[in-house]
Amino acid sequence: MVITDQYAVIGNPIAHSKSPLIHAAFATQTGQNLEYQRILGSTENFTTQVQEFFARGGLGLNITLPFKHLAWNIATQSSANANAATAANTLTPCPDGGLIAHNTDGPGLIRDIVHNNHIEIAQRKILLLGAGGAASGILLSLIQQNPKQLIIANRTQAKANALAQRTLTNHPELVNMVSGIGLDQLHDLSFDIIINATSAGINDTIPVIPEHCLKPHGVVYDLLYADQPTQFVKWGQTHGARIALDGLGMLVEQAAEAFYIWRGVRPNTQVVLRSLRG
Ligand code: NAP
Repeated sequence: MVITDQYAVIGNPIAHSKSPLIHAAFATQTGQNLEYQRILGSTENFTTQVQEFFARGGLGLNITLPFKHLAWNIATQSSANANAATAANTLTPCPDGGLIAHNTDGPGLIRDIVHNNHIEIAQRKILLLGAGGAASGILLSLIQQNPKQLIIANRTQAKANALAQRTLTNHPELVNMVSGIGLDQLHDLSFDIIINATSAGINDTIPVIPEHCLKPHGVVYDLLYADQPTQFVKWGQTHGARIALDGLGMLVEQAAEAFYIWRGVRPNTQVVLRSLRG
């Protein structure tokens, strides 16, 4: 009997996850023979669930909320992106029986911004809204694009400070580039690109930022995605944004990065993105 290669995404909730659809499309497109399931994770048994998946011969797991930090914690090796985020969205087995943690959110975001949408981050002033899991997951990748300035602004200022400080501890040379502030300290600052990595949109709202925060013809990127334009995309559109994007492109690109880690093949993401939008 031929056993098909097994992959899955684990999270809680999980029924809404588009990952099985995306990976099935990648597999068909690239002629890869694999199965990709959803696993409803349990906070009490997450580690056991992961161990059992790999013990049964599973070849790769994607991790979603709320287990990304835990996944990083149980891994025996980690990529630089996963270590910077202290979170993993992809796990692969090691030959010695351990697990390798990867975080493909940052590379996925950069691929969507820079490659798909031809937006330069280098030498631009970037505002990163939020200091939770998603913000910490994309921060290193943003820095690697060499922006002129990257300000992390968060409702709870201490968390923005802590995230900036953690980055500066590892990269003291970035002291003039990276800083953390409260949302209420944006005052008269303005930015070329504003990235919304808060979860405010889940309640159909946006973080409170000054009207003039976006430079004329700037870019707005909301990590959240929805069938309709998100509230933050709408904010960009009504505040002079040249481009206002939601996070569906990042979702597909982070999946493609995981697919590449697992299968060594790069799928055509634009075909899949178009079909999801359709
Ligand atoms: P998280 O760890 O819970 O962090 C939430 C962040 O949002 C915190 O910084 C929080 O500020 C801030 N926040 C929440 N409500 C707010 C409000 N009303 N006003 C201002 N700030 C507010 O969540 P996360 O994992 O980082 O996820 C953030 C978003 O990214 C979610 O919408 C998620 O769906 C999205 N995401 C998308 C992708 C993708 O592939 N497109 C990947 C990962 C995540 P405090 O610290 O003050 O509470």
